[in-house]
Amino acid sequence: MRHYREIPIWKDVTEEQWSDWKWQLKNSIKTVEQLKDVLPISLQEEREIRGTLTTFDMAITPYYLSLIDPGNLQDPVRMQSVPSIKETEIHMGDLLDPLDEDADSPVEGITHRYPDRVLMLITHVCSMYCRHCTRRRMVGEVDRHVNKRVLAKQIEYIRAHPEVRDVLVSGGDALMFSNERLEEVIAEIRSIPHVEMIRLASRMPVVCPQRIDDGLTEMIKKYHPIYLNTHFNHPNEITPESQAACEKLANAGVPLGNQTVRLRGVNDCRHVVKKLMHGLLKIRVKPYYIYQCDLSRGISHFRTSLGKGIEILESLRGHTSGLAVPQFVVDAPGGGGKIPVGPNYLLARSDHLTILRNYEGVITVYNDKTSGDSVCGHDEACTDDRYLIKKGVARIFTHPEEIIEPSHKPRILK
Ligand SMILES: *Cc1c(COP(=O)(O)O)cnc(C)c1O
Repeated sequence: MRHYREIPIWKDVTEEQWSDWKWQLKNSIKTVEQLKDVLPISLQEEREIRGTLTTFDMAITPYYLSLIDPGNLQDPVRMQSVPSIKETEIHMGDLLDPLDEDADSPVEGITHRYPDRVLMLITHVCSMYCRHCTRRRMVGEVDRHVNKRVLAKQIEYIRAHPEVRDVLVSGGDALMFSNERLEEVIAEIRSIPHVEMIRLASRMPVVCPQRIDDGLTEMIKKYHPIYLNTHFNHPNEITPESQAACEKLANAGVPLGNQTVRLRGVNDCRHVVKKLMHGLLKIRVKPYYIYQCDLSRGISHFRTSLGKGIEILESLRGHTSGLAVPQFVVDAPGGGGKIPVGPNYLLARSDHLTILRNYEGVITVYNDKTSGDSVCGHDEACTDDRYLIKKGVARIFTHPEEIIEPSHKPRILK
């Protein structure tokens, strides 16, 4: 980690410029020539990076770049931001759209996979292109925001679907919009009566914390409840700057969550993950998900075993605050959505006995005989259409005659 003034091309940059997110964006490292000015790059690396940039753009904010230890080729921030020739390798099983987001898309930029919430992509650009990006089929290559006509269609779709109570505004990076343009989008969503909450997805707190300015937090405050999920992957990303950004959002009443991706050589270790989770809680960010790296093309060098992920969860639960334990999920290929996986705590079950184990290996028996039959809490919710379960395994409890056929994948189109 260097102070930016130690980097020759930024030695005359003022504090004011450095803390201006527009300056950060304008001065992002996008070419090999620029990269050579700020990091020692071997000739071979230079050639490889040039080869990689034809498939997926590079952008590294000066701030994020300054976190790299220039002497360490395995630096976790470097690995996430500097292209590697391995991205051009295509492996068996790699997919262009591993999550089948396009198949679940009723209008451009909307993925409606779950009954009550939608993913809305408002831009294809980011301030920093993660080398492990899962949406690389659409991000970067076409450096642009979604146009106003498409945005209007997305809003129209949400307005026409009263079951949508949660809108995830993502991209690209949702905070690439200026405060004014973002407010237009948020105000439109907020004007839809059935939308209960809005979630922003942005890596800006990590890669360009300068983006979290007073204008943004003042604007957001007018449209609560607004949540924000961000994407820290390594303890080195927790700095005074990213801390200030998160605290500012938290002080504006924005509950913060974090989605980490398991990346080989970056955070594939239970000690690093535990340190990261503790660091996040200290800056008021709740660890929300840890993702298994998915099957996108060009990221297979980051993939690591599912088993190691389960080991990491085993090393968290019980050993540290429950708040520090996220859900470990696999985003199932083919549009299956997020599937939680983790250690098994349920060892065995009989008519009335359930045998459980805790993190220490202590085995306990829970005896159902002492429990009464299940009795509903009797609330209006029980007959309210908004809360009734219309599909999935949970529906079998009330409709055992409805068999789920493997060939039939329920989708919500139109
Ligand atoms: C992840 C995701 C969501 C949100 O899932 P949560 O588990 O509610 O955070 C919604 N839609 C799509 C398509 C997603 O991939």
